[in-house]
Amino acid sequence: MNFKKMLKDQLAYVYFNIYHKHTSQIGNRILIYHSIGSKLPHDSYGISITKERFVEHMLFLKEQYEIIALNEDYKDKLDAQTLSITFDDGYKDNLYALEICEKYCIPFTLYITTGTIGQKDYLSQEDIKLFANSSLCTLGTHGMTHKHLGLLNYAEQEMELTESKKMLEDIIGAKVLHVSYPHGSYNADTIFLTSKIGYNIVSSSHIGLNTKANIDFKRLKRIEIIASDDIKHLERKILGYYDYLALKEKIPH
Ligand SMILES: [Zn+2]
Repeated sequence: MNFKKMLKDQLAYVYFNIYHKHTSQIGNRILIYHSIGSKLPHDSYGISITKERFVEHMLFLKEQYEIIALNEDYKDKLDAQTLSITFDDGYKDNLYALEICEKYCIPFTLYITTGTIGQKDYLSQEDIKLFANSSLCTLGTHGMTHKHLGLLNYAEQEMELTESKKMLEDIIGAKVLHVSYPHGSYNADTIFLTSKIGYNIVSSSHIGLNTKANIDFKRLKRIEIIASDDIKHLERKILGYYDYLALKEKIPH
């Protein structure tokens, strides 16, 4: 474990035990997974977790939490302690996640970067149809080119959000109403555009619990799960140990 991670863990421990534990909020925690079991050339951060660890996580989550889908009923379920599972990017190895989630009956949302469909390490159009056929899977887009939306101008963002929606809808033959921001990046234009284009549930990368009091369908809060997260770290992320990181986030309006 490197020094920075150790320090982050220590801060999380202190924050949780001194403050967060006593404020015990009720709501929904959304986890972000990326790749399962692949060695990706660009993965310096640990976004690919092993198959064994993924199964271990799913079994633990299934046993300990109520896992709910991000769908129309979502907002009616915020007065309970729940969990939701999402995958970003659309890696080929997510077919394994589909198999495991089907096996244990775990609902999830998959956000696909449409520009990489069919490329090496990414899902093909045929793969995506398998996800669309699963009653447990909700599909959404994740931009067309995975660029930081918050750094693009209005027209470029409109193109990213419109073209990716259209492409995914053409593949699955159904409406796509969900999107997650690549790199968690967005600005006021993005928020306006997601509404205009017809996305009604939008996931951000802001850390925190989604509660009845703070629910914002233009930027649901989520937390990233990485390769080094064993069950102890997974549980801490769910409990809110790392919610202190939200204090230094900049929230665009
Ligand atoms: Zn991404």
